[in-house]
Amino acid sequence: MSNRPVRVRFAPSPTGPLHIGGVRTALYNYLLARKLGGTMILRIEDTDQNRFVPGAEDYIRESLEWVGIELDESPWKGGPHAPYRQSERKPMYREYADQLIRDGYAYYAFDTPEELDAMRERLQAAKVPNPQYNSITRAQMRNSLTLPEDEVKQLLDSGAPYVIRLKVPRKEEVRFQDMIRGWVVVHSSAIDDKVLMKSDGMPTYHLANIVDDHLMDISHVIRGEEWLPSAPLHVLLYRYLGWEKTMPQFAHLPLLLKPDGTGKLSKRDGDRLGFPVFALEWHGTDAETGEPTVSRGYREEGYLPEALVNFLAFLGWNPGTAQEIFSMQELIEAFSIERVSKSPAKFDQNKVKWFNEHYLRAKSDAGLAPYLLGALAEHGLACDQAKAEQIVAVMKERVSFPQDFWQEARYFFEAPTSYDEQVVAKKWNPQVSAALAAYADALPDNSEPSANAEVLKALFTQTVEAQGMKPGQVLQALRVAATGAAAGPDLFETLAILGTGEVARRLRTAVERLG
Ligand code: GLU
Repeated sequence: MSNRPVRVRFAPSPTGPLHIGGVRTALYNYLLARKLGGTMILRIEDTDQNRFVPGAEDYIRESLEWVGIELDESPWKGGPHAPYRQSERKPMYREYADQLIRDGYAYYAFDTPEELDAMRERLQAAKVPNPQYNSITRAQMRNSLTLPEDEVKQLLDSGAPYVIRLKVPRKEEVRFQDMIRGWVVVHSSAIDDKVLMKSDGMPTYHLANIVDDHLMDISHVIRGEEWLPSAPLHVLLYRYLGWEKTMPQFAHLPLLLKPDGTGKLSKRDGDRLGFPVFALEWHGTDAETGEPTVSRGYREEGYLPEALVNFLAFLGWNPGTAQEIFSMQELIEAFSIERVSKSPAKFDQNKVKWFNEHYLRAKSDAGLAPYLLGALAEHGLACDQAKAEQIVAVMKERVSFPQDFWQEARYFFEAPTSYDEQVVAKKWNPQVSAALAAYADALPDNSEPSANAEVLKALFTQTVEAQGMKPGQVLQALRVAATGAAAGPDLFETLAILGTGEVARRLRTAVERLG
């Protein structure tokens, strides 16, 4: 099917916030679609109404928008195969379940929950390792394969509750080629007779997913490894529905592991391990206590979407070169499924931070200034654009997140109220204090920035030497007196931005307070 138009889909279930693993799945689908000039579709798989979580769909939409994954067809945008929400497609699935029954590939099962429990208990007592409704156990159950035809008809006519199950063959090898894993072979005895249609007339994930992928003409199914065990069942469904020739190509992405590699990165891990596992903050409710919960999000913690995208792209894929920094456009050009690894990818929180620092520092001063200006406004402070740009320019090598600008640059707006104790203990003495007082006197006393860093430095050296000291003996004390902090960007740049009048005032205050 080499000439087949590329149509891929991301098919989340709105059962809660979208995990970053889901964002990665969406991203790989998107990269492939864009690379091959195909179509990116989003379908909401909401057939399991018990697990439906209000707000989850909007959250999925906002997450994808934030990272820059554009959808060509979706519930929100529409498209030629609308509707794109399975709950709205409910009437479309029944005929395929009926077709499977007619062709002998599926059957009605009338077992009550109690009867199913009894079966499980019987099998457990007989030490059957994995009790299932399957090609062997179905013979002892109440279904259209075991009951007489007239009884089946009568049950159906009387409206007795039933489900429709797939009739999985007892001894058959099911094989398919996965684009990442190569040939996957599973014996049908390992597959149970999955429910395709529930008693409320809703299809299950398996039936709805296959029917929709077929009707939406999906060419590639790219999804997480957790769906690999379902794939043989899906292959059987394609075959039994007569759609095997147009079956999509499968690509099951590698698992995402916790940073220490001890297991799958789960939705709960973020809060436990100290980093977000969601693109956006999620406000939910604790399943047990019903209390409101807040889960951390990359966006709210100051990550740039470019950084998260670049990081996620590398969790399972690499370009085969040393290049690590890729814009979305560059990823589209470089991406290929062939370079997706089948080994699990370990989450690395330092790496995502490293990407963030890169993308933050790559921004222009004018692009960074709003971060500082926004924080200033929140604190009832103000400064002009030019000064904000000067500050972010000297600070940007020192910050990892936009909010750090305010944390790190606070002293530009507020005179220190305390002084780094270690520096004071080690570097402050009456001689140093006198040198700083002399420097304060030597500074031109106007409140606006009036001198550049070079001039201020030359004046400092001159003043300190005139006091019989070396600049190195006084430098750290100067920083502490002017900013309160032990470290920071270039000191004389800092003083130039503060302005000589302000620096002189701060030095005099420090001399007075520290003696
Ligand atoms: N609805 C499934 C999920 O929530 C989709 C799996 C698939 O892509 O087939 O992940």
